[in-house]
Amino acid sequence: MNIYKFTIGNFAVNNYLVHAYDSVQAILFDAGEDTDPILQKIDDLGLELAYLVNTHGHGDHIIGNAKILNSTGAQLLIHELDEPYLSDSQLNLSAFLGAELKSPKPDRTLREGEKISIENLDFMVIHTPGHTPGHISLVCSGHAFVGDVIFRGSIGRTDFPLSSGQQLIESIRLKIYPLPDETILYPGHGPNTTVGNEKMSNPFVSM
Ligand SMILES: [Zn+2]
Ligand SMILES: [Zn+2]
Repeated sequence: MNIYKFTIGNFAVNNYLVHAYDSVQAILFDAGEDTDPILQKIDDLGLELAYLVNTHGHGDHIIGNAKILNSTGAQLLIHELDEPYLSDSQLNLSAFLGAELKSPKPDRTLREGEKISIENLDFMVIHTPGHTPGHISLVCSGHAFVGDVIFRGSIGRTDFPLSSGQQLIESIRLKIYPLPDETILYPGHGPNTTVGNEKMSNPFVSM
C-alpha cells in the first residue's frame, strides 16, 4: 500500500492518505487545517477519495472535514460515540480556541469490528477509547493508524472532557499491544513507531 503522511497546522496533526499500489481508490485518516497539500496529492496521483475517517472528534483532526468532503465527494466516517464531537465546540475543544468549529455530519457511524473497504484494502475498526470515548484505530495488514492513543514514547492526553486515563491504558494493553510486534503505528502526532518498540520502551504503559 502507498501511505502519504501530511503534518499540518499549529497542532502538527498527522493526516494519512492511503491507497493500494494497484488502485486509485483512496482513504484519508483525519483532516487538519490546511487541506491543500492533501487535495493536491489526490489530484496529482489521480486518486478517488472514497472515505474520510476521523480517528476521533478533536478539532485538530476534524477541522478540514468540510473542505475535503466538498472537494472530493468522500464519505465521512467516525465512531458513533464521537459523533457528538463534530458539532459540539466544548467537546471538540474549538471553544477554547475562540472558534466554534462544526463539521458536516457523518455519512455513517462506526463500531468495533466493522470493516472499511476500499479497492484491494480492508481496514478493521478497533475501538480504542480513553483519549475520547469513541476513538478508533484502523488496522490493515501490518499497519495501524492510531490517532491520539499512543505516540512514540508517549500516550494520548486524558485531561479533556470525557477522557479516561484508565480506559486509554486498557485500550493500549488490550487492543494495540496484542498486534504483531512489527506492526507499524501511525500516530496523530509525531513520528511513526512499532508495537514492539513501544512494548519495550514506552514509559507510560507497564506490561
Ligand atoms: Zn485528540
Ligand atoms: Zn490530536
